[in-house]
Amino acid sequence: MLPDALRSRLALARRSLLPCRGCLGPVGEGAEAGLCGRCWGGLLPLPEGRCPRCALVHAEADCPEATAWDCGDALWDYHGGRPPLGALLLPGIKQGEAGWRKALLGRVLRGPLPDWAAEVDCVTAAPSAWPHRLLRGFDLSAEAARLVAGRLDRPFTPLLAKGWLRGRQASRTESQRRRLPKRAIGLRRGAAPRGLILLVDDVWTTGTTLLRCAQALRAGGADEVRVLTLFRAL
Ligand SMILES: [Zn+2]
Ligand SMILES: [Zn+2]
Repeated sequence: MLPDALRSRLALARRSLLPCRGCLGPVGEGAEAGLCGRCWGGLLPLPEGRCPRCALVHAEADCPEATAWDCGDALWDYHGGRPPLGALLLPGIKQGEAGWRKALLGRVLRGPLPDWAAEVDCVTAAPSAWPHRLLRGFDLSAEAARLVAGRLDRPFTPLLAKGWLRGRQASRTESQRRRLPKRAIGLRRGAAPRGLILLVDDVWTTGTTLLRCAQALRAGGADEVRVLTLFRAL
């Protein structure tokens, strides 16, 4: 057996020899969970001048996106950085990269939230189907929602459930996603959404899932829904 001091020095040396798992460059200052500081710098805010509803920049004065909310935003651009960090992190986290998950959630705790988030009454998360939750052992959207609720000093309340025979969103084409049946997402048994609800999800792509969630919350009695995701794919 090696003495502890020697073992930890060897571990340190090994870590500093391994390249960054994002850009394959040398890791150095600011590295975390195997990614260098430059790669973590890829958590970039969305462009200024984006639409307050759909969080995209568009020329039309009226928002052309179908939404069920007036306020929608994301913390970071999914394709920000080189390599695009969101597109690296989220699939990795879903495959079990616990270090990346911890590092990302740490940044959810520190990152800037939109001003309007302070006005909400409670925070909920877009649901994941329970077999996926069970297999992965975590639910990133719910974990992020819980952290945001803590920062806002509001309750986190799971209100939504997802039908589990519907198949994975990620394996569907975009036109299939848009045809996702309404009943795939509904209220949990006994859930009673009230007041102004902040809906949190990991990534906002077409917005179909968020739309179904918001519609279910509104139909169940919520006065208003606002949307905040970790990433927005532009
Ligand atoms: Zn890197
Ligand atoms: Zn818009």
